[in-house]
Amino acid sequence: MSAQSRPAAPGIRESATVTSLRHQNRAAALRFVLQQRETTRAELARRCGFSSASAANITAELIEDGLIAEVGSVASRGGRPISLLAPRADGAYAIGVDVGERGVAVELFDLSLTMVDREFRGGRREESPDDIHRDLSEAIAELRERNRERWPRVLGIGLGLPGVVETEADGTQVLYAQSLSWAPRPIPLDLDPDLPVYAENGAKTQARAELWYGAARGIDHAVVALLGRGVGLGVITDGELAHGAHSSAGEWGHTKIRYGGALCRCGQLGCVEAYLGADAILEAWRARGGSFDGSGWQALGALLAAAASSDPDATAVLDDTIDALGAALGSVVNLTNPQRVVIGGWVGMRLMEQHADQIAAAVRRNCLDRLGAQFELVPATFGGDTVALGSALMPITALIDTPRAELFAS
Ligand SMILES: [Zn+2]
Repeated sequence: MSAQSRPAAPGIRESATVTSLRHQNRAAALRFVLQQRETTRAELARRCGFSSASAANITAELIEDGLIAEVGSVASRGGRPISLLAPRADGAYAIGVDVGERGVAVELFDLSLTMVDREFRGGRREESPDDIHRDLSEAIAELRERNRERWPRVLGIGLGLPGVVETEADGTQVLYAQSLSWAPRPIPLDLDPDLPVYAENGAKTQARAELWYGAARGIDHAVVALLGRGVGLGVITDGELAHGAHSSAGEWGHTKIRYGGALCRCGQLGCVEAYLGADAILEAWRARGGSFDGSGWQALGALLAAAASSDPDATAVLDDTIDALGAALGSVVNLTNPQRVVIGGWVGMRLMEQHADQIAAAVRRNCLDRLGAQFELVPATFGGDTVALGSALMPITALIDTPRAELFAS
C-alpha cells in the first residue's frame, strides 16, 4: 500500500496507521474465510478488495497463527491446482449458550462452527435467575472438565438471553427481562475463571447465525423472526444487525397488534407476544376445548395435527395465529422494506413446515402491495440450536477484532 512507502509526516503516527490498516485487512480476511467456510486466495482477494500479494501475505499469516488451513485443491482452467482455504477447526473454540426460560443449552463449537460438545441444565417449570446462574456455571465446569486439551484455545462464552441486553459505557452488560418479571440484572462474568463473557438478546443472536451461515446470508436487508415461548426479531439493515441507541432495537414481540388487547407477560396490553407466543397459541386452543400434554413442541404438534385432520377448533386457532402473524409481520415489512423475511424459533419452524404459503399470503395482505412484492418469506436454516450458534459468534467476532499480537495471550 502507498501508506507504507510514504515518509511519515511530522506529528502523524504512520506506523499506527499501517498497523491499523494491516489489522483491518486481516480482520476482513479472517471474517471472510470463517463465513465462507471454503474459499480460495483469488476469491478472498476479489471479495475483500486485496491485491493478490496482500491476499497471499494475510493468508500466510492466518495459516501460521493456526486459524485457517489449506484443505485441498481444485483444478483451475489452466490445469494448475488452486488451494482451498477453510477455517482450521481446532484453531479456536467458542461457547454459545441459549438461555431459555426452561433451561440453558451450553454448546462448545470449533472454529468451523461445528458443535463438538454440549450440556443442558434445567427443565424446571420456572427458572429463577439464580437457578440459571448456577446451571450455567455447572454446565461450563462440566464442559471444561471434558475438554481440558481444547480449553486454552476457547475464546469465551456468548450468552443469548431472553430480554433486552444493554451495554453500559464502562462495558458492563445488564439484562432487562421485563417479560419474566426479573429485576435488572448484571450479566455474570464469573462463569469460568479464564473466559470472557459476552451477552446479547437471543433473537439477535439467532439473526446473526442466519446472517453468517443461514437464510439471511448475503442479504443486505432482512428480518429474522424468532417465534418460541417468547417472540423476538433481528433486523438486518445494510448487511448489519440493527441495535438502536442502547442495543434494544427489534423488540417486535412487544409492539402492539391490538389496541387494548390481551394482557402480555410484560404487563402491557395487545402485544404481538400475547397472540403469537407458544403459551398464547396453546391457551387459545385450550379455551376452545383442545386437550394436549405439556406446553412445548409436542403440544404444538398436536394442534397442527388436529388442524391437518380438519378439526374445526384447531383449524380456527391455526387460522387466527396465521392472521395475527401476517398482521404483525406486515407492519415489520412496511417499516423495514426487507428483501427476505426469515421465520425461525421452534414455533416458527413448525408453522412453516406446512403453512409457509399461507403465512406469506397473510403478510402480503397486511403490508402495502408494492412492499409485499419485494420480499420472499423463508424458514430459518437452523432449528432449535440457532441461539447457541449465534451466541458463539460473539467470542468469534472478538477473535476477528483481536490484534495479532494479543492472540491467545494469557
Ligand atoms: Zn408485551
